[in-house]
Amino acid sequence: MLENTNSKTTGKRLMSWKSFLGLGIALFIIGGLVMLVKPAAAQTTATGLTTADIESLLYMREEEKLAHDVYVTLYDMWEAPIFNNIASSEQNHTDMVLSLLNQYGLEDPAVGNAVGVFTNPDLQALYDDLVSQGSQSYEAALLVGGLIEEVDIADLRDELESTNVAAIQQVYQSLLSASGNHLNGFANAYESATGNAYTAQLLSDADVTAILSGGNSSGHGNSQGSHGSSGQGSNGQSQGNGGSQGNNGQGNSGSGRGSQGNGGGNGGRR
Ligand code: ZN
Ligand code: ZN
Repeated sequence: MLENTNSKTTGKRLMSWKSFLGLGIALFIIGGLVMLVKPAAAQTTATGLTTADIESLLYMREEEKLAHDVYVTLYDMWEAPIFNNIASSEQNHTDMVLSLLNQYGLEDPAVGNAVGVFTNPDLQALYDDLVSQGSQSYEAALLVGGLIEEVDIADLRDELESTNVAAIQQVYQSLLSASGNHLNGFANAYESATGNAYTAQLLSDADVTAILSGGNSSGHGNSQGSHGSSGQGSNGQSQGNGGSQGNNGQGNSGSGRGSQGNGGGNGGRR
């Protein structure tokens, strides 16, 4: 080794090792504090829900409101019935999440908020952006509809994987199925309006193709499913979430339109 014998340098090195040590101890302490805080965050709260469940409900309440508000606004612009029809379904969805908030004694983030007003700043920005995109043309508005449903599907899948609360799972499953139907509706309308096939904007192509072909990849994880033996097995995208047993929801409440009545009468196409 080319260790130099300069004692000054050695002294400096020692100093720097000491400060490294100090830093290490500091990091250790901070790490310890983080570890102390983290389990607490994952613990169930007084509501019986985890903080993740609570955040999820607060978010979904506003995300479903966002879908409603964008569609209502786009209906005003373009007067195409599809926006009005799906908006009323989204009203049911946001109300279903509100019922859960009430059930668990949580404050409603949307209370008193008019159409187009959101407490979550990310959703506010998203709303503004989507309405601006949708104002470009009717076709662009249909794509906005498709994008909202794709985002909703992706978020609901994530939230479903992160909660163990049956009441929440039931509602989210129902919203997820409806989102598949809505995506179908927007894709069909887009195709009629433009002559072009709808293509995936957020989800994978395969995923969207499966949803649009009625192979309902949004029906995964249906815990009340009867063993999935009636499933068509048409999609391989069970998302690996626990308990789905590869049951893609076909033939039971997870599939396509058959699911619309469940979870409190949300009608996807009223
Ligand atoms: Zn919805
Ligand atoms: Zn929807």
